[in-house]
Amino acid sequence: MSPKLKYRPKPHRARPHRRTGPPGAPAEMLSPASREAKPVRPVQLPPSLSVKELADSLAVSPIEVIKELMKSGVMANINQVVDYDTAAMVASSLGFEPGEYQPPTEERADAALTVEEIEESGRLPRPPVVTIMGHVDHGKTSLLDAIRKTNVAAGEVGGITQHIGAYQVELHGQRITFLDTPGHEAFTAMRARGAQATDIAVLVIAADDGIMPQTKEAIDHSKAAGVRIVVAINKIDKPDSNPDRVKQQLADLGLVIEEWGGEVVCVPVSAKKKEGIQDLLENILVVAEVLELTANPDRPATGVVVEAKMDKSRGPLATVLVQNGTLNLSDVVVAGASWGKVKAMFNELGKRVKKAGPATPVEILGLDSVPQAGDSLLAVADEHLAKAQVEERRALQDRRGMRAERGLSLVDLSQQIQEGKVKELKLILKTDVQGSLEPIISSLERLEEAVKVRLVHADTGSITDSDVLLAMASAAIIIGFNSRVEPGARRLADQEGVDIRLYNIIYELVDDVRKALVGLLERKVVDVVEGHAEVRQVFRAGKHGEVAGVYIRDGKVTRNSFVRVMKGGEKVFESTLSSLRRFKDDVREVTAGFECGIGIEGFSDFQVGVILEFFTREQEQPVGKSPR
Ligand code: GDP
Repeated sequence: MSPKLKYRPKPHRARPHRRTGPPGAPAEMLSPASREAKPVRPVQLPPSLSVKELADSLAVSPIEVIKELMKSGVMANINQVVDYDTAAMVASSLGFEPGEYQPPTEERADAALTVEEIEESGRLPRPPVVTIMGHVDHGKTSLLDAIRKTNVAAGEVGGITQHIGAYQVELHGQRITFLDTPGHEAFTAMRARGAQATDIAVLVIAADDGIMPQTKEAIDHSKAAGVRIVVAINKIDKPDSNPDRVKQQLADLGLVIEEWGGEVVCVPVSAKKKEGIQDLLENILVVAEVLELTANPDRPATGVVVEAKMDKSRGPLATVLVQNGTLNLSDVVVAGASWGKVKAMFNELGKRVKKAGPATPVEILGLDSVPQAGDSLLAVADEHLAKAQVEERRALQDRRGMRAERGLSLVDLSQQIQEGKVKELKLILKTDVQGSLEPIISSLERLEEAVKVRLVHADTGSITDSDVLLAMASAAIIIGFNSRVEPGARRLADQEGVDIRLYNIIYELVDDVRKALVGLLERKVVDVVEGHAEVRQVFRAGKHGEVAGVYIRDGKVTRNSFVRVMKGGEKVFESTLSSLRRFKDDVREVTAGFECGIGIEGFSDFQVGVILEFFTREQEQPVGKSPR
């Protein structure tokens, strides 16, 4: 074990290496930040740390850190290690004041261990965290139930299990944690919020049905997250089950099972008959062994919110998965934009517990509001610190509400490629039919540029929420070919600034990607809505055809505006203005609250009540600068 530096949650500022003066300097030489009671912004950074650790030290979501890195052209995943300079740059741009560089131990005069080193040496094996994925009706829920019933935690079989979003089972004295919300959508939604909770994905495939669209999606989502896949071929009790066909289909997708010389662990099961469950659990433990999963129970807890709700009598209830450290009763925690003192903790059997170590799910009571699934959880030193962090997060959310943060667009990436900052272009491709999928994939794969295309996911069908979440979680661009965008997906993409590009000519699609790869793609022109008007009267205006008497409801119209005629929310015509008049005078602009006369080029079918939408065409704004 480590030299015992027993630090129950205590202020980051109290950590030994956080001194911002010279080594050994007396307290009065330290910067005020090291001495003051409530320093929130200063942060001391080690010579190197992972993106996740950096996010934890700044108490922001890793996605924010990743976004900041991306803005400077560094593409990093959550486990990637960054150096002091990079970390300091991210910290500064997020409003922190990084302390001075402290050389690693061997270079330092005082040979005291850093907290990170102590943590590293205090790491112990921890249980794997498993998510069940697969196509609808292939038996995900049944399998979770079967596992729970056969092996529920710590020999308490027969205990009343509560649904808290996660549970643990025990086999041969080793534990496995299952996240109880099956499906890759929940998994990727958490990832899109910056949380990587899962180590292993169990891919359930019904032996009578084989690989289906959501099976493929689940494979791509797991791969994008770098999560190890264990295949459970389910429903082997059915007379028409055909496990060999499933194995072949897996091989066709590049997942070759061990039996056939590959690396993918594959276990036949029947969730219904509870057969093969033990075998599956054993195999999960074997895979976990290979992953060498460790955590340090002897540090303040960090974790992730798995589920949260408002309980009428008990207040906000959140199921959290402790990922590192130990969460104790009475700890002060920050979870997303909520904070509180842990008043009570319950395990999945509804039993009160006093502490929860790494990979343990617990339901906690005591937060001041309901956090969101995927929010990170952090035990902090005291209530002051918690409140300050939460206030900052809430302020950030408010600012975001007014000015949506934008993700990266293909044009932005193209620019970064030109500047040599990006080495890979991640795409999600959706096409209308299988017939167009193959030729597009092979054309994209043939693009011989220095920067390569990586298809995170490619399939037929419309563009869904799940695609947008995957794009967010993987910093990918979505490309649709004759593909429809589902309204929910469009809303989410607009909100999160995910770039969806739609094409109906293969050449144009491939050419745009090629241009992006060589850094030549130019900003696209976007429509910016200026205002709306309602048609109140229709006049015949001689040779000018029809003119509408309109009332400007919001914004404005200018003589150079483009206009869309909208009926029942649908666009029926789009053109430019042929005239804009107030009384008898031609005018340049009319603003909200006024009436005017409008003629539209090529249009003479005005009706009272129709809405006109005015817009201009502008060059797309670069990332983060769009005042939306
Ligand atoms: P999910 O949509 O993937 O969560 O699938 P469910 O767990 O809801 O299962 C879908 C259907 O398949 C249900 O009617 C289950 O009873 C059935 N089912 C699940 N596992 C098995 C199995 O091993 N054998 C058989 N015969 N049916 C199963």
